[in-house]
Amino acid sequence: MHKTQGVPGIGRIFLIGPRGCGKTTIGLLLASKLGANFWDTDLVLGEELGTSIADFVAREGWERFREQEHMALCHVLEKSKMQGPAVISTGGGIVLREDNRRLLQEEGLCLYLQTPVPVLAERLAHSPNADQRPSLTGKDMIEEIAEVLAARESLYREAAHNAIRADQSPENICAAIGDILSARAQTPHPNCP
Ligand code: ADP
Ligand code: MG
Repeated sequence: MHKTQGVPGIGRIFLIGPRGCGKTTIGLLLASKLGANFWDTDLVLGEELGTSIADFVAREGWERFREQEHMALCHVLEKSKMQGPAVISTGGGIVLREDNRRLLQEEGLCLYLQTPVPVLAERLAHSPNADQRPSLTGKDMIEEIAEVLAARESLYREAAHNAIRADQSPENICAAIGDILSARAQTPHPNCP
């Protein structure tokens, strides 16, 4: 995809998917190609918590964490409303809350970075980033990835407008997203002839 003037016809792109599917990596690259702003709800959340995600979860529990994550998504949305086109990467569990899924569907184009379990495991093994990625189940990594993905796959599909194969190079993923944006820009609004 070539650098364009903003995101054609779409103010906001959300990237969703499990840990390690490349939301942060692709988000940064895509935003630079589109000349759009970039936010990552995980990074904003980390700043707002003032501690690591792992520490917060250990102290306050997952439910409180999910509330804080919802607030971080709302804050990012507010900021992006003032600042033009944006690519927004999210945390892997953002789709667990129904209110988040609705925001992702209604406030922009939501793209699911679909990635096979062995690829996720390979990537996470090389960048475990344990501080930011607390174990969700306390189990062996492959088993945990497979289990968590099985539980969330339908939620990713429910929230996303499109799924993109993310077991390819970042350049090819951005090109695939560019194709989706072009196709959407050419599709007339349902109320138009
Ligand atoms: P997420 O934000 O979805 O958890 P990251 O963007 O942090 O995922 O990526 C996790 C790891 O996988 C990083 O080491 C990153 O460099 C690598 N990675 C991400 N996308 C790709 C890709 N398309 N091909 C190869 N490696 C990737
Ligand atoms: Mg990330």
